[in-house]
Amino acid sequence: MNEKNMNIPSADDALQQIVDGFKRFRKDVFPEQEELFKKLANAQSPRAMFITCADSRIVPELITQSSPGDLFVTRNVGNVVPPYGQMNGGVSTAIEYAVSALGVQHIIVCGHSDCGAMKAVLNPASLEKMPTVKAWLRHAEIAKTVVADHQTCEHNHDGELNFLTEENVVAQLTHLQTHPSVASRLASGQLFIHGWVYSIETSEIRAYDALEGRFRPLDGEGPMPVATPRARLNSN
Ligand SMILES: [Zn+2]
Repeated sequence: MNEKNMNIPSADDALQQIVDGFKRFRKDVFPEQEELFKKLANAQSPRAMFITCADSRIVPELITQSSPGDLFVTRNVGNVVPPYGQMNGGVSTAIEYAVSALGVQHIIVCGHSDCGAMKAVLNPASLEKMPTVKAWLRHAEIAKTVVADHQTCEHNHDGELNFLTEENVVAQLTHLQTHPSVASRLASGQLFIHGWVYSIETSEIRAYDALEGRFRPLDGEGPMPVATPRARLNSN
């Protein structure tokens, strides 16, 4: 979500651009990749599930250079994962399907810079006329409390927003592990979870490293940061 709109086209123009894009896709893009689409026509075997914010500036396929069929994407305001049992909604359903039916081995929860949802968590008064968003963002309350209890004086407003955005990803990873399908495969080392924060302005991705207890660059030195707890059971 972003409340700042840049040059807003008229409603007709906006739709026309979308339909024109579709025409270009059918005419130019589809024929070039026809083999791929034929292969995908009756089956999918995505590399990962990607849970991110509905924000229009986040394009999972673009930032990971993925093709159709590569990512099983689910998006919502604030890249939230409700804890198991609290809400049998779209996210929980998508998780269960991705893990149990498609057998994905990776789930990535990806937050981002300048997130309107995170700004709203810091400024709940802005949600007075959006009761549904307000209720949904209660799933980010855990991160808000962590941030409030660990605020240091060097954090300015941007610092606080970044801190909350990272803590929200950590919180949603915690919620993710309450889903039975996820918990079972984590325990047997068949599933790996990852927490990322993408910067719209710089393209950097910082990833949560559970071993070090901090975020560090996904493309930095050393082993790739992972948020997956250690497996403790044999798969059967
Ligand atoms: Zn967002």
